[in-house]
This record gives sequence, structure tokens and C-alpha cells, in this order.
Amino acid sequence: MMQPQRPSRRTGLLEDQFWNHLEQHKLHLQRCADCVHLWYPPGPVCPHCLSQRWQWEPMSGRGRVASWTVFHRQYFTQMPPPYVVVVAELEEGPLIVADLESTETQSLQIGAPVNLRFLEVYTDDTAWWNYQWKLASKTSTSEASSVLEIL
Ligand SMILES: [Zn+2]
Repeated sequence: MMQPQRPSRRTGLLEDQFWNHLEQHKLHLQRCADCVHLWYPPGPVCPHCLSQRWQWEPMSGRGRVASWTVFHRQYFTQMPPPYVVVVAELEEGPLIVADLESTETQSLQIGAPVNLRFLEVYTDDTAWWNYQWKLASKTSTSEASSVLEIL
């Protein structure tokens, strides 16, 4: 199977730590040690109280759809349309934007449970681990509480 291509990712001190966690199939976000605020995307200070005291914390990967849209126009050569982008609210609170595993939108609705899945993608010849949303199965009650899916 062809590995999916993606546009190049943002790099930097904090971004690299974020991607290193993804490489281990974990989504970690920063939590403020002073006001307990969680934030995404990575940044050097707490966006709520500007504290520089924070630590990485593992997330459940479970969320609910807050909004979504179907892209019909091509913005990146690596991502031919159509594809679906979902904004989902993590169980822990922050909103995470990612593409959806499928272009099937019939059962996609606000509040629908979704799980993060990790997938290996390529930018040119370089492999890295990315994440996307997947609708939680309605027929399986165990899936909603299962561990994160790893491809
Ligand atoms: Zn804070």
C-alpha cells in the first residue's frame, strides 16, 4: 500500500518534542503548572496566564466533533481533494484540528465521538508520524474506551 504523503510539518524546539511523542503513538499536550490550563498547538508559555512552568501530559485521544468541513479545492500537492477536516474537542478540553480517516460524511455530525489514530506519512522520502480523527464505531461499545489505534 502506498504511504500517504503530507505537506512538511512545522519544526522547532517544542514542535520536535510534540512529534517525538507522536512517534511513540502518544499525543502529549502542555499543561500549565500554575493554572492547570492545557493548550494546543505547542507554545513556550501558558496562553492563559503566561507562566513558563509547564509539563507534557498524555491525552486520551478521545474527542467529540465540534465542527467539520469537506475540502474540494487542492491546497497541497500531497493532499488531493476531496478530504474531510474535523475540529474535535478532546475529552481533556483542547480543540484538535486534523483530517478525517475517511471521506464518508454520512454519519458525521456535531457531537459524534471520534478517536485519534496515528499513521506514518511521508514528506518526499522522509517518514514521520502524524495523527487523524476516526469516527468511533457505533456498534462497538468497547472501541470507545479502547486504547489509541496504531497503524
Ligand atoms: Zn497557566
